[in-house]
Amino acid sequence: MTTLAFLGLGAMGDPMAAHLATHARAHGHRALVWNRTAAKAGAHAAAHGTHPATLAEAATADVIFTCLPTSAEVDEVMNQMRPHLRPGATWVDCTSGHPDAATRQAAELAAQGVTFLDAPVSGGTAGARQGRLTVMVGGDAAALDAARPHLAFAGKVVHVGGTGSGFAVKAVNNALLGVTLWATGEGLAVLGRAGVNLGAALDVINASSGRSNASENLIPQRVLTREFPATFALGLLAKDAGIAVDLTQGVQGSAPVIAQVAALLRAAQHAVGPAEDHTAALKLIEAMNAQEIR
Ligand code: NDP
Repeated sequence: MTTLAFLGLGAMGDPMAAHLATHARAHGHRALVWNRTAAKAGAHAAAHGTHPATLAEAATADVIFTCLPTSAEVDEVMNQMRPHLRPGATWVDCTSGHPDAATRQAAELAAQGVTFLDAPVSGGTAGARQGRLTVMVGGDAAALDAARPHLAFAGKVVHVGGTGSGFAVKAVNNALLGVTLWATGEGLAVLGRAGVNLGAALDVINASSGRSNASENLIPQRVLTREFPATFALGLLAKDAGIAVDLTQGVQGSAPVIAQVAALLRAAQHAVGPAEDHTAALKLIEAMNAQEIR
């Protein structure tokens, strides 16, 4: 019997592990779950028929999934699990992690016969609930092919290169989210100060060349409504943009716009709060312009 383990039942992990449970039930696999706050694993088991496990138990699984805030937390659980890991297992890290950490973690696990795939996801909590996440995978292609049937939460899986490539693509993708979100917020604040109706302005922008995911699917629903529903934390977006900056430096690249937006997102994280929704970064733009975006 194949044993699958999912570690980290947060906003993304909880619904992702639910799809893993459905997949496990359909194929006669066993689905283990672990969460730092154990009550969440108990609730997941009650709702989805998964089995709460200790870290030592989860370490014996054939495929281990993690979805934690950063690579630092993945290091923490990996260190505790290392004595119990089994050769031949695959570790699929769905955290939006750091490419440098992936390189080190993959080497450490390889010494124990365990394969590491960096496999961050995009699609948000809605995509996770629908089982339609895009998964960008770095690492060994054959290991991905073996793990692919178990990516039950995925709508699209793309092998983007060697170890760390998945984390790199995710960091750049989210830096682009930060750039479009921030720049659209600036434009709207200026239009607001000019006395333009911002709903009408977005209506035009979304039928024109300035449109983006931020202008179409985030700002109208989350900012103009003043709801800012916390599905993806501002601190996590600032972390992702920071990884893109690290990546730029690592390859001696030049990406000043990304660097500037990363710094602005970090400032917004401090000014607005790391646990606020990422769209609440625009509250800093509002303060800079003495103009609400509504
Ligand atoms: P959440 O904050 O909702 O969940 C974080 C999870 O990590 C929780 O299960 C939490 O456990 C656990 N955790 C936190 N610190 C530790 C620790 N020190 N040791 C062990 N476990 C810990 O985050 P998300 O689910 O939103 O994000 C997870 C990852 O997915 C991040 O890398 C994020 O960037 C990425 N992501 C998020 C998206 C989103 O829309 N939210 C979209 C795509 C990617 P506990 O319950 O005990 O707090």
